[in-house]
Amino acid sequence: MTRRVLLLTTPNTYRAPAFAAAAERLGVEAITAVDMPPRLAAAWNQPLGVDFQDVDAAAAAIATFAADRPIDAIVAVDDSGSLLAARASAALGLPHNAPEAAEAARDKQIMRTLLEQAGVLSPPFQCCSTADDLPALAARVEYPCVVKPLRLNGSRGVIRADNPAEFVAAAERLAALLHRVYPEPGPKPFLVERFIPGFEVALEGLLNHGELQVLALFDKPDPLDGPFFEETIYVTPSRLPAETQAAIARCAADAAAALGLREGPMHAELRVNDQGPWIVELAGRSIGGLCSKTLRFGTDATLEELILRQAYGMEVASLSRAGAAGGVMMIPIPGTGLLKRVDGLAEAAAVPGVEEIDITAQLNYPIVPLPEGDSYLGFIFARGATPEAVEAALREAHGRLRFRIQPAIPLLSE
Ligand code: ADP
Ligand code: CA
Repeated sequence: MTRRVLLLTTPNTYRAPAFAAAAERLGVEAITAVDMPPRLAAAWNQPLGVDFQDVDAAAAAIATFAADRPIDAIVAVDDSGSLLAARASAALGLPHNAPEAAEAARDKQIMRTLLEQAGVLSPPFQCCSTADDLPALAARVEYPCVVKPLRLNGSRGVIRADNPAEFVAAAERLAALLHRVYPEPGPKPFLVERFIPGFEVALEGLLNHGELQVLALFDKPDPLDGPFFEETIYVTPSRLPAETQAAIARCAADAAAALGLREGPMHAELRVNDQGPWIVELAGRSIGGLCSKTLRFGTDATLEELILRQAYGMEVASLSRAGAAGGVMMIPIPGTGLLKRVDGLAEAAAVPGVEEIDITAQLNYPIVPLPEGDSYLGFIFARGATPEAVEAALREAHGRLRFRIQPAIPLLSE
C-alpha cells in the first residue's frame, strides 16, 4: 500500500518543492495542507486548506481528512506548521514532538526560559513590550544588546543597539514592524538580549527518540555583528577543529533536550566564543530557504528524503553527507525599491564550482531589505573540493551579479 504523507505548507514557502520531489523519489503520496482558508484552498484546487493559527480547528480538519484517507506521517515544511504538525500527529497517534516542545521551538521567550533553566549557554534576556517606557528601559539595559521579535524568522526585526539612543531607535523600529505584522490593537512583546560576540554556525540535525544525529554543520564565514543580521554564505563541512564541532553538537543536543524536542528535523544556530558555543536559536524544522540543495547524503539522498523516511518510520539509509564541500549564498537585498533587472547571470554561472543560481525575487515587485524584509533576492549554489574553494566561488559569482533596483518614491505621508 502506498504510504501517504501530509505536508504542511504555506502559500509562499520556499520549501514545498523539495519535499514534494522527495516524496516522489520515495514513491510516497504527498498531500499538502496549506495555510489558507478552506474556501480559498478549494478555489485554488488544494485538497486541504487550514488555518495554522487556529491549531485546534486545523488539527480537527486534518483528523477528519485522515479518516477517509489515512495518513502515515505529517511533516511541517517550515516553522509555521510545526505546532500543528505536533498536534495533528498526536490526534492521529503518529510519532511526534510534544506540542509544548514545538511551541517552545517557535517562541523565543519560552525557548530562552527553558534553556536558562536547563543551564544551556544562551544569551541573557528580558521580555519587554512595545508599551514599555523605552527611554527608561534603555537606561537599564546592558550594552551591546539586540532587540528581537518572539516569533518572526530570517532575522526580521533583529537589531543591535550599542547605547541608549540606538536602543530607543531600534525598539521603535521593531515596534513599527510588529504593529504592521500583527495589526490587532494592543502592545506587542519583544525580547532584549545581551549581544553575544563570536562567530556563527548552523547545525542541521535529525532527532530520533531524543537522540541527535548531526547531518551537517555549516560555517557562516561572513561576520554577523549587526546592526542587522543578514544571512549570506553557508558552507559545509565546517572548517572548525573537531573538538569545537563536538562541543557545538553537544550544546545543540542539550538545547533540544531542554526544549523537549525529540523527533524529526532540527536546525540550530550557535555563536561560538571563548566561553564555548551559545545557542542563538533552535527550531524544530529543517534548514530554510533553498539551502538544503547544498546537501546530499549516502547515495545521493536529499535532506527532505531523510526527513520523510524518518517521519514514517522507514530506515534512514545513510546519514553521512556525500560529496566534497558545498555551500550557498543567500543573496541579500541591497535596498528598497522595485527590482528592475538582474544582469551578469551568465558570467556568474560560469564561475567554476557554481552549480546553480536561482533568482527568487520577482521583477517589478517591491523588495525590502532587513530588518523589515522577509525574503532574499535569490540563492547561489556552489560545490568544490574544499570549503575555501566553495566560499571563493560564491563570492566571485555574487560579485558578477548586478541588480538594478528602482528606488521607492517616499509617500508624502511618511
Ligand atoms: P530569527 O529567528 O529571525 O533568525 P535569531 O534569534 O536567529 O532570529 O537572530 C537572527 C540573527 O541575529 C542570528 O543568527 C545572529 O546572527 C543575530 N543574533 C540574534 N541574537 C543575538 C544575540 N543575542 N547576540 C548576538 N547575535 C545575535
Ligand atoms: Ca535564526
